[in-house]
Amino acid sequence: MNTFYVTTPIYYANSLPHLGHLYTMIVADTIARAKRQRGIETYFLTGTDEHGINIERAAQKAGRTPKEQADYVVSYYKKMTAEFGLDTAHGGYDIFMRTTEPFHYEGVSELWRRIAKSKTPKGNDPIYKGHYEGWFCAACAEYKTEDEYQKPKNEGEPPTCLIHDTPLDRVSEESYFFRLSDYDEALLSVYETRPDFVRPESRRNEVISFVRGGLQDLSVSRLKTSVSWGVPVPDDPAHTMYVWFDALINYITAIGFGNEERQQKVGFDRFWPALHLVGKDILRFHAVYWPAFLIAGGVELPRAVVAHGMWLDPNGRKMSKTLGNTIELDVLQKHFSIDAIRYFVLREMVFGQDGRFGYEALIDRSNSDLASGLGNLSSRTLTMIGKYCDSHVPSGVIPEDKLLLAKRVGVDTDETTLAGFIETARDQFGLHFQNLAFSRALETAWSIVSRADKMITDAKPWDLAKDENQKHTLAAVLFRAAETLRWLTVLLHPVMPGASQAIWNQLGLEGSPAQIDPTKLKWGELKEGTAIGDVQPIFPRIDKAKTMSEINADQKPTGVHATEADAVPGTAPATKPEPPMKHATEADAVGVTSFIEIDDFAKVDLRVGQVLSAERIPKADKLLLMKVDIGEEQPRQILAGIAQYYEPEKLVGRKVVIVANLKPRKLRGYESQGMVVAASYGEEGRPVIATFTEDVPNGARLK
Ligand SMILES: [Zn+2]
Repeated sequence: MNTFYVTTPIYYANSLPHLGHLYTMIVADTIARAKRQRGIETYFLTGTDEHGINIERAAQKAGRTPKEQADYVVSYYKKMTAEFGLDTAHGGYDIFMRTTEPFHYEGVSELWRRIAKSKTPKGNDPIYKGHYEGWFCAACAEYKTEDEYQKPKNEGEPPTCLIHDTPLDRVSEESYFFRLSDYDEALLSVYETRPDFVRPESRRNEVISFVRGGLQDLSVSRLKTSVSWGVPVPDDPAHTMYVWFDALINYITAIGFGNEERQQKVGFDRFWPALHLVGKDILRFHAVYWPAFLIAGGVELPRAVVAHGMWLDPNGRKMSKTLGNTIELDVLQKHFSIDAIRYFVLREMVFGQDGRFGYEALIDRSNSDLASGLGNLSSRTLTMIGKYCDSHVPSGVIPEDKLLLAKRVGVDTDETTLAGFIETARDQFGLHFQNLAFSRALETAWSIVSRADKMITDAKPWDLAKDENQKHTLAAVLFRAAETLRWLTVLLHPVMPGASQAIWNQLGLEGSPAQIDPTKLKWGELKEGTAIGDVQPIFPRIDKAKTMSEINADQKPTGVHATEADAVPGTAPATKPEPPMKHATEADAVGVTSFIEIDDFAKVDLRVGQVLSAERIPKADKLLLMKVDIGEEQPRQILAGIAQYYEPEKLVGRKVVIVANLKPRKLRGYESQGMVVAASYGEEGRPVIATFTEDVPNGARLK
């Protein structure tokens, strides 16, 4: 069946929408529009995850019921999606899914029952009762997660409550567990047999090594006395499902799993499996836990789980309200067109990697690619048709007896040269799009813009217009430019629905580029004699200095950014006991790619060294003090923040890589004369020292 289903994560309803949410929605919206344009029946889901202790607490503080609290946050999402043209009314999402919908409860209960009735691949019960253990503050009457307590100073002591500064108790309570540990082989076989299941490749490898590292069973319920705001466990109402267990299931309940009414209205069988777009920080939940639940419940797996990177500031730093470098959605909306924003995020972020977002870069791209690029091509072409062809699309045919004249002024008499170029670009564009390589797809589209621009500049229609003998040549050039524009509007419709429609209308065409399948475009179908519409600038040039000063005036002082969690009156700070559905794009600032020249690299003096001695530094639990021989007269004294992961004695004798020309600096009163090179991975940034498998003398230079 020719259908397609795309989802964003459903966002945890304890914070207001920010750039990360907007980005994933734009990507999903672009994919959905591209599919629809190709005649594929498409369903696009976004929404909010509304259960759990966080919402319960936030509601309490705000004097609302949990549902009222969720409604409050949802109203901001609805406003944002409407303003950015992503809601149903603007041709965007088909459902704003909310986990408080009664049909969701039904579907979730159905999957729970199916899982409970089945057996794991190893013959055990997938759901069993055990005990959840956690740190509990009696004064708060709450379990505390890792970021809600102060870690103990000495090992063996309990952590302390951040609010009360009192030691926490280790408390355990009855909980249902999902036997995830029995699904490792089943999952590995999915990654193996379906290499595209988790994308991009680097993320797939992370997921595989996580599963290979051994899976632990998951606590999937809490006693109702601890957490009441959620879906009750079927046949055991003393338990509430843990919020992310119910949340993930939204992807199937939304389209009718376990509910007849939704099934009739949308159709699980019609639309499942989905393409899930997620931020890389919640990949594990979507690529490991979610498929395991589905395998256990006997439900087909998603089409794929695709993780995108996060937005960093122009300097490559993580955006945060403390740094004051976040992008405000209201500021964006005020100063930029929706199409320019869509174009920028899709063009700027190599999908899967982190990208950088700055207002200045957005203005620069908007001016160069849109105002001077596509917008200029459109306005110069249409203005000239107005001026030289009485506002009607001219004929593209140069009569036989005028061919020589056209050749004389350097115009290619064979229009299939240009047509062939554009057809090839169209096919490449489609392939890149299918691979979600939006940035490359747009580069390809802009190669068409450049080509058409060059054709016009070379042919100089303003000169041709002075020579009556060249009127057919002039007409052919303008026809080709107009036909190129028509193709561009069709290709670019999913990315810039507003601008492409506007150019389409100015070309005098009826209907919408949304209705034209780009794979079926044929060169020359633009009809001669079509009266063009009113010519208007599509992308007015942005005055950078003026706009930047306005933006700076609009920026709120640090600490009161509208897009941050605590701007919701009365909600809890951005704690995260339930990580899965929150902040789809926030994660470590890794994976940034930008190029340097070889000379830049040559500035770094990397040397092979050998650790002669290593010892801990009193009162610095992270630092090791090492003496390293790098082939100089004296060994270097180097400090490295690796003490939590490396036993000093085991490092002695080891070959390492040293940055030898790093300016010496003092750490804890000791001078460090260089730096040890190490990889860093995982949320804690665990260091792994770089080394050699072959013998290499001390002091050898790396280059
Ligand atoms: Zn407390």
